Amino acid sequence: MTIKAFSVEGNGTYSQDVPAFAAALGGTGADLVLVPGNSRVKRAMPAAALRAGAAIDTNIVDVAVEGETVVVRRWAYRQRILTAFSRTARPWVIVTDPALFGDICAKLGVTAEAMPVCDAVGASRTTVNGLRSAGAGGESTIRPDAQLLFVAGAGWTKKQADGATHLDEAAATIKGFLGKSGASLGSSKSLVDMPEAAAAFTFMSHMNQVGQTGSTPRHAKGLATCCHGEEPHVVGWRFINERRAVNLDANCGWAQGKADVLYVADAFEVVKKVNEMLG
Ligand SMILES: Cc1cc2nc3c(=O)[nH]c(=O)nc-3n(C[C@H](O)[C@H](O)[C@H](O)COP(=O)(O)OP(=O)(O)OC[C@H]3O[C@@H](n4cnc5c(N)ncnc54)[C@H](O)[C@@H]3O)c2cc1C
Repeated sequence: MTIKAFSVEGNGTYSQDVPAFAAALGGTGADLVLVPGNSRVKRAMPAAALRAGAAIDTNIVDVAVEGETVVVRRWAYRQRILTAFSRTARPWVIVTDPALFGDICAKLGVTAEAMPVCDAVGASRTTVNGLRSAGAGGESTIRPDAQLLFVAGAGWTKKQADGATHLDEAAATIKGFLGKSGASLGSSKSLVDMPEAAAAFTFMSHMNQVGQTGSTPRHAKGLATCCHGEEPHVVGWRFINERRAVNLDANCGWAQGKADVLYVADAFEVVKKVNEMLG
């Protein structure tokens, strides 16, 4: 296993650094390339690795090499879970936490050498062919200027009274409401993390997640539907003034002082009715 470490210091532009880093990566012939994750590396190294056909991982805090196996560690979920993983792809660029670069190099017995960087101005200035407006956002469901935040929780994907799930109906109901009300769409973590929901809920992504590990939107009003009102979710509501929720469970989190009004009702029925009333 050949391991190479490069220190990268000073400033550089993206357009100069990407080809220079890519050339350096291509020229090493190393299986593992260690670099410190300073802002210059973080900006240009991913593109350089792509050009050089290398795999890359960032924010690595530990590297262990045993024979041909390399295991790296990285924090996830806002430093709550320390993950360990491995790759077989080579070359593999390992971007370490900058403060740990020296220790990791010392542990692996490699000495860092300065990354060769290109100082010549690249010949790749962008020429603008024209401008086109991005429009009003099309399918975008994140609308920071909306008065209302409509939050969809995992309950929309759960088995309902008839013992079946109704994903397409749920998606159509939510989309119908968003279209008629102009509300912004928020979601709970459970829903955006659910792979089986992704096919029906195409208008939703991790960007919609509200909460401790999601966003903290600032709408005048919020309506949570099929969402339990767990603390890690509701902390994301701290700037939402008027809060209402629709849940089948009268003892859900919203009932514990987190909402001004809790409608103990079936959100499928309530939102369909509201859609009808909105015309
Ligand atoms: C460290 C950490 C960070 C986290 N960060 C976040 C975060 O940022 N954001 C976040 O959202 N979560 C976060 N969570 C997860 C959070 O704790 C909850 O697990 C999650 O919010 C639950 O999502 P949910 O309410 O959509 O789903 P569930 O808990 O499954 O609740 C579904 C609800 O839907 C109701 N329901 C079902 N059918 C209907 C119906 N027809 N009509 C009305 N109601 C119905 C049920 O009664 C139930 O209350 C975090 C957890 C941890 C440990």
